[in-house]
Amino acid sequence: MQLLDGLLVSKTIKQELTEKVAIRKSLGKKVPHLAAIIVGNDGASMTYVASKVKSCEEVGYDSTLIQLPSETTEAELLQKIHHLNQDDAVDGYIVQLPLPKHINEHKVLMAVDYRKDVDGFHPENVGRMALGLPCFLPATPAGILELLKRYNIETEGKNCVVVGRSHIVGMPMGLLMQRNDYPGNATVTVVHSKTKDIEKICSQADILIVAIGKPLMITKEMVKPGAVVVDVGITRIEDSTKNSGFRLAGDVDFQQVADQVSFITPVPGGVGPMTIASLLVNTFIAVERKDV
Ligand code: NDP
Repeated sequence: MQLLDGLLVSKTIKQELTEKVAIRKSLGKKVPHLAAIIVGNDGASMTYVASKVKSCEEVGYDSTLIQLPSETTEAELLQKIHHLNQDDAVDGYIVQLPLPKHINEHKVLMAVDYRKDVDGFHPENVGRMALGLPCFLPATPAGILELLKRYNIETEGKNCVVVGRSHIVGMPMGLLMQRNDYPGNATVTVVHSKTKDIEKICSQADILIVAIGKPLMITKEMVKPGAVVVDVGITRIEDSTKNSGFRLAGDVDFQQVADQVSFITPVPGGVGPMTIASLLVNTFIAVERKDV
């Protein structure tokens, strides 16, 4: 078994971006600028946003963190988004999800200028992705593709099973793995909570990509010997041996399946850091598009 070390690969990508930013600077070109909006003070969301902003600093980007109170109205948030759309200094921005219940997430995502939508959630970007046109790919699936690429994982003609069909991970992942490109050209099956006999379908996968948010659900019997396993899930579970009282668990029972797979992502240190790296890559693409 070999680890698909997302942490290591993400560091390489960050180093590459740092060098590209230095070149831009030396040519007097604009440094990429990523903004992030967070509404409310959900602990996990705050941690994710903070690490995105910190990563911008690491690679020499400008960054702006906009923290809004949980009582922020939908109209106020839309106003903020309108400002970011107009602000030439900001090349790309993200609205950290989930939003408080009183705000319509769909309306908010629709309001983001798709040219600054570095999360790749706007329907314009989703449609372009489906058609293979230039777009911002959603950060998590894009990070997984990059990880597969950097480890030279063969995907053409492989049987790929994606567990989960969310708009931000499972659905785009399925589309991208079946596109006529590398990584891609796989025969894809997407399964979800209504699928019958998930165990059998998973156990036939050469490449198994799991994004469900159900810790340790994928067990030994569900994994084909020699498979490539990508675990997107990341859930806090109680662990009294930790000072924090919890640890992070993936959707795959790593201990059980590690021996029988060819490649597997660890949790943490697999898909998570690659997601942030992809966001940085998308922001770099955003600033470069303004050059022309
Ligand atoms: P969602 O809750 O939006 O979607 C979960 C999907 O899993 C749904 O399609 C659901 O099916 C399916 N599902 C749920 N239970 C089962 C089951 N028992 N059997 C089969 N399918 C099931 O989650 P996300 O896609 O947003 O995230 C999934 C996980 O990935 C979470 O742990 C999240 O924290 C993590 N994540 C990690 C990221 C990273 O960077 N590492 C980035 C994004 C997410 P149905 O549609 O039928 O309800």
